[in-house]
Amino acid sequence: MPSLRVRATVLPVVFSFVILAIADVSIAFLRPELSVPALYLSVLLLVVFTAISLWYAARLIRPINDLMPTVDSKGHLEFRSTTKKTTAPEELQALAKVIDQIIEKQRLDDAQREKLERVRSEFLANVSHELRTPIFAVQGFIETLLDGAVDDPKVNRDFLERARVQAERLNNLLNDLIDISRIESGEMRMSFRMFDIQPFLREFTSEMQPQARTKDIELYFTGNVLPHHEASVYADKERIKQVLINLVDNAIKYSGNGGAIKIELLNGEPTRNEVTVRVIDTGIGIPAEHIPRLFERFYRVDKGRARSSPGGTGLGLAIVKHITEAHHGKISVTSEVGKGSTFQFTLCKEPF
Ligand code: ADP
Repeated sequence: MPSLRVRATVLPVVFSFVILAIADVSIAFLRPELSVPALYLSVLLLVVFTAISLWYAARLIRPINDLMPTVDSKGHLEFRSTTKKTTAPEELQALAKVIDQIIEKQRLDDAQREKLERVRSEFLANVSHELRTPIFAVQGFIETLLDGAVDDPKVNRDFLERARVQAERLNNLLNDLIDISRIESGEMRMSFRMFDIQPFLREFTSEMQPQARTKDIELYFTGNVLPHHEASVYADKERIKQVLINLVDNAIKYSGNGGAIKIELLNGEPTRNEVTVRVIDTGIGIPAEHIPRLFERFYRVDKGRARSSPGGTGLGLAIVKHITEAHHGKISVTSEVGKGSTFQFTLCKEPF
């Protein structure tokens, strides 16, 4: 296929050739003595027309060529066309604008994909690291027992108990990983319904008493709901229980013996469409610089301390955040080192 430039030139040149040929033939009939100079003049005019046509076609076509995006060193499309300038024909300016938008979208998609890939590989690295720790520990205990410790009554039970704790940790980690991936892939179906949150929180508080008692912690519930009044929320009971278990578990885990944990319900004014649930502890607290990253997967304030506890997977708060967000709620934390922490989340009072 000939290029646009050649095609745009051929038609005017052929047209001028035909006109000049007719003029020459007519002159040859009417004034034969002028036919030779007329022929020279025609050839000259044809050359001039061809040159003008080629130049004009090139001028018209340059902004089209200029619409071609380039590829930068990283393989990303770039578009710095001068066709976007107002001197270019308006149809091409419109086309340049569309190409610009497509390339911008592609750039954003690329950036998003690169970010996802980075997050995914970081996640995989974290998962394998987290799995390896308890697996190696269990392996170590079993090997030591097989090497003879099994017959030593001073250590055999202790090693078995430690291996059990690590197996439990592995189990917790796998359960949390399954939860995170089900929430993130949208596979975790929530079954939202209206229920009164006050009796629910009372019951939950009494269910958690045995765990709090292991550290002599006083666990209690307070609510600002008037007697005989309901504080109905639109939520999934099971998932909200999971959130509370994670928060109260942490409150116990990161408190010394003999502290106190308060579960508090704040039923906002009737005009506000939400209630607030708080878990307040008198534990070790969280340094301010860690707070912004606390809800990230596998983020721990004190890596050594959290790993040595059997339940700590570093995924609990990430799951809590996902679940509250699926309830159109907000989660936040305030804390003071040495004094304690307050985790609070909101729930809607009406279906969303
Ligand atoms: P983990 O399984 O390690 O407890 P989480 O996601 O539940 O993981 O918590 C992340 C980190 O936040 C914990 O490792 C801990 O350092 C800190 N943290 C969470 N809750 C509390 C709390 N109530 N008091 C002090 N630190 C806390």
